[in-house]
Amino acid sequence: MLFDDQPSPKLVGIARLAASSDLLEAKKQVEYLELETRRFIGRGSGRMRSIFTINPYRGCEFGCKYCYARYAHEFMELRDPELFERKIYAKRFHAPWFRDEVRRIKPGETIWLGTATDPYQPAERRFRITRRMLEAFEGERGLVLGITTKSDLVARDAELLARIGRKNAVSVHLTITTLDEALARLLEPRAPRPALRVAAVRKLTGAGVRVGVLAHPMMPLINDSEESIDAVCAAAAASGACSFSANPLFLKPCAQRVFFPFLEQHFPHLLRRYKERYQANAYLKGHYPEMIRERVQKALSRHALAAREAVEWPVDEQLELFGSPTLHRKVDRV
Ligand code: SF4
Repeated sequence: MLFDDQPSPKLVGIARLAASSDLLEAKKQVEYLELETRRFIGRGSGRMRSIFTINPYRGCEFGCKYCYARYAHEFMELRDPELFERKIYAKRFHAPWFRDEVRRIKPGETIWLGTATDPYQPAERRFRITRRMLEAFEGERGLVLGITTKSDLVARDAELLARIGRKNAVSVHLTITTLDEALARLLEPRAPRPALRVAAVRKLTGAGVRVGVLAHPMMPLINDSEESIDAVCAAAAASGACSFSANPLFLKPCAQRVFFPFLEQHFPHLLRRYKERYQANAYLKGHYPEMIRERVQKALSRHALAAREAVEWPVDEQLELFGSPTLHRKVDRV
């Protein structure tokens, strides 16, 4: 066994209340910048060449401690990993160009929205780029469109997604790593609370949109207990989701620079073992992935859900496919 079972520390009293408080406004400054973009839709490479990818934003304000997309900012010489959460680049949207790109996609082909950063992060409330991109799909037919997000804001577009889904295969994949609000606030500090994400699943499925729930990443001895996996799976099933999956944490060196100090602060008893496992390899191998597969399988059978179809994400390629980072201007600051 890679990690011995040890209970995670429980927050109590005012600490727990504080950790589960609704976020009213981020105090840390965030800059929104507009990124000049010539091409909005990218392609995977190699075996993933057949998948198109779209990411309306670069950087992500949700600030998940395990996020591996942080290194995309290094391409802009933004080497402090925290800048990924504070300098958010919104692509300057040009509807006619985008529609031209969409029209070139043939029926039966697959498009993933949000492969590198969250398309429904707070910037979307202001700039509505994801919304405007989706509107371009309304006239299309025969496409396979998948969206991944950690935000309940996706429910805003429930009706639009249902309309697109009448002529295309549309599915939304909401990430819910835990139902424990205090733990979620630690791991995903500015992402919507798990209860809001569950409510979004309900609203989308109520509108007739297919929804899958993703419980990854599974972090050893943090959110990977059988009870926790089962609880998320049960909430997914009760909200009408059609699939559920969970994979072990993948921790690239850029993510380790944030995740290890996070462990040191909140889970110091786990730091040494995480370092031993992840410093040599970003993936966990051996018994652990097998154990997670078994726990997921048990939950799936208990709640009569299907496993999410295996889709490999062209993440690394996509990060290279953003528009030129040198052409941007600051558009807002909060
Ligand atoms: S929501 Fe996704 S892209 Fe955003 S910080 Fe979290 S893991 Fe990274």
